[in-house]
Amino acid sequence: MKAQKPGLHPRNRHHARYDLPALCKETPALSAFIVTSPAGEQTINFADPEAVKTLNQALLAHFYQVKAWHIPQGFLCPPVPGRADYMHHLADLLAESSGGKVPNGASVLDIGTGANLIYPLIGSHEYGWRFTGTEVNAEAIAAAQAIIEANPGLSRQIRLRRQKDPQAILTGMIHKNENFDAMVCNPPFHDSAESAREGNERKRRNLGQQTEALNFGGQQQELWCEGGEVAFIRTMIDESRQFAKQVLWFTTLVSKGDNLPMLYSALTAAGAVKVVKKEMAQGQKQSRFIAWTFLDEDKRRRFAARAR
Ligand code: SAH
Repeated sequence: MKAQKPGLHPRNRHHARYDLPALCKETPALSAFIVTSPAGEQTINFADPEAVKTLNQALLAHFYQVKAWHIPQGFLCPPVPGRADYMHHLADLLAESSGGKVPNGASVLDIGTGANLIYPLIGSHEYGWRFTGTEVNAEAIAAAQAIIEANPGLSRQIRLRRQKDPQAILTGMIHKNENFDAMVCNPPFHDSAESAREGNERKRRNLGQQTEALNFGGQQQELWCEGGEVAFIRTMIDESRQFAKQVLWFTTLVSKGDNLPMLYSALTAAGAVKVVKKEMAQGQKQSRFIAWTFLDEDKRRRFAARAR
């Protein structure tokens, strides 16, 4: 673990190295996973899914008041600092249309919220936002619902919608007369089950592990869709036109920078009025999200000022 994680957003709570004694106090089960690195420092084995999951339980409890968080085996276990960064950069984007102030009580649509419910958990705690999470996977949505029910107060902030049509993304998820300040999404990014497997193997090699276990695991269906993230995001862009007046900012992570030019062309063709890119960095890992809107500056201000 590095002493500093360069590049995180200034409001991100994970700039300092993990305070393992404090985290173990919060979540005693974490103590069983503490190991000493060759340099003599206390750490955890990031290639052990149980260790990573327990670290996440401790981080979510300690920093975000989520005292009960369980994900079924094999589901994506998210790196918390990077996910938090998306929420903070989104807050800055929303602040632009709200006189420089991050709007409290904004409503956010999270496409593919996963079993882990990570964006609603972080965003509702940090900014008081209300989330609607969508999901195609029945087991994932059941796990996410169980997290909501296990933590007092969350059912007022977070609700879920099942997407029954695997070809659809926004269709059916935004009701008539419903408005959202933002859509967020971490799309399935591999283009085949094969490349999802290769990606995981590469990650394992990078961690220097012999084990079959995956660190930030993920079911294959979570990690891939036909045509990869470009196909998924293209569909999303296409569908977003229908909801041009109901969503202020559509945003999505783009895991491969090489995909950006194609997506920008799709946005131009769709008639997006403004497109923004936010670069994010966590340690060595570079990522970004893109944001688009069909509303001009004046309309954006009016949208943000409407009674919520
Ligand atoms: N938001 C979580 C999970 C991201 S993985 C995180 O950041 O960790 C992508 C998720 O999108 C998976 O849970 C997958 O089941 C879901 N998904 C795939 N296609 C979808 C669709 N058309 N509508 C809603 N969810 C979808």
